Amino acid sequence: MIQNLCKVCKKCSACQLSNMEYPKQLEFKQKEVQKLLDKFAPVNKIMGMDSPYNYRNKVQSVFVMTKGKKTISGVYQSANHGIAETDSCNINDSRANEIIKEIRLLMKSFSLLPYDDYSGKGFLRHVLIRHGHKSGEIMVTLVAGTPIFPRKNDFIKALLKQCPDITTVVMNVNSDPDKMLLGANQKTLYGNGYIEDELCGCKFRISPQSFYQVNSVQTEKLYGKAIEMAALSGKEKVVDAYCGIGTIGLIAAKNAASVTGVELNREAVRDAIENCRLNGIKNAYFICGDAGDFMVEQSLKGAKADVVFVDPPRAGCSKDFLVSLHKVKPKKIVYVSCNPVTLERDLRYLTRFYEVKEIQPVDMFPHTKHVECVVSMSRKAE
Ligand code: SAH
Repeated sequence: MIQNLCKVCKKCSACQLSNMEYPKQLEFKQKEVQKLLDKFAPVNKIMGMDSPYNYRNKVQSVFVMTKGKKTISGVYQSANHGIAETDSCNINDSRANEIIKEIRLLMKSFSLLPYDDYSGKGFLRHVLIRHGHKSGEIMVTLVAGTPIFPRKNDFIKALLKQCPDITTVVMNVNSDPDKMLLGANQKTLYGNGYIEDELCGCKFRISPQSFYQVNSVQTEKLYGKAIEMAALSGKEKVVDAYCGIGTIGLIAAKNAASVTGVELNREAVRDAIENCRLNGIKNAYFICGDAGDFMVEQSLKGAKADVVFVDPPRAGCSKDFLVSLHKVKPKKIVYVSCNPVTLERDLRYLTRFYEVKEIQPVDMFPHTKHVECVVSMSRKAE
């Protein structure tokens, strides 16, 4: 049995596999993927990490007051919504851990309290930190329960003095914490309100509300494999479905005739359009909307695509999306999935029309039970 470095592991329960040595975790995930997917094609050996700690470039911490009136920060316990107090999480970016600690100390010296839903008193609910892996840029999003930020300017000044490497600070007001971490109201308090980072030689702007893969080292391996599977020649019409800030599509764009990305989150689409400009890309277009609606519309118009990248959230693709996807007749589909269970379900449908060529698991989330896969498919002869 390995020595577990985390004091709140049991309470937090995010790292379900932390009692296994890392090579054993990889074996476990390999078997899980094989159990579900090797009926479609042999599964490649999982791509693991050389150094599987402190990989999360996005760190969120919740702030609460204890019965003894002490402000603590930590993570929600998945089991009961209690808080597991920690400021040295082993999978989080180390600098983000330190900044969260600094914020907690500053709250004390500014007599700023965590927001309390019952009394409506206090200020801070969460802190969200994003740290650019290559750029080093750091964004701090303070998620408050109320728009009233007492001694705001002094607080920000003190924070920047303690942590001069922070490049931007955003305040987000969330009055309905049951819905999401971030609310709709947002204001930049310092810097430009986003960070930039680099993946696979392209630059990306990332705003607070946009999705960005949390493990940059493994994301380069994942995207590298996805691009290799697409084997683009420069002539293809490419669709990047569930595109986020346009990462996969923009990395593919230099070897494609055109790329169309579709994404539901408005802020992410704005980032994607800006990311075209940042990289001097002229053949990529982004649409804000539901990927299923987009695909239905494409198939009704009789539009065709050569290669479609698909990268949905854990729930997988909608039936509408899958039915219309095969009607636009891409020669290749490259499906990136963070949930092998919904991937298996979607592959059962797609394999009526497509042959699975390659399945590559990638360990994006060491110590947790989660596993990412990328699958390439080719259209069967009709
Ligand atoms: N390919 C991107 C994003 C993957 S995460 C990357 O690698 O970074 C999945 C994305 O799907 C998120 O950005 C989420 O906002 C988006 N999304 C969720 N439901 C959607 C839907 N119904 N239609 C389009 N996009 C959706």
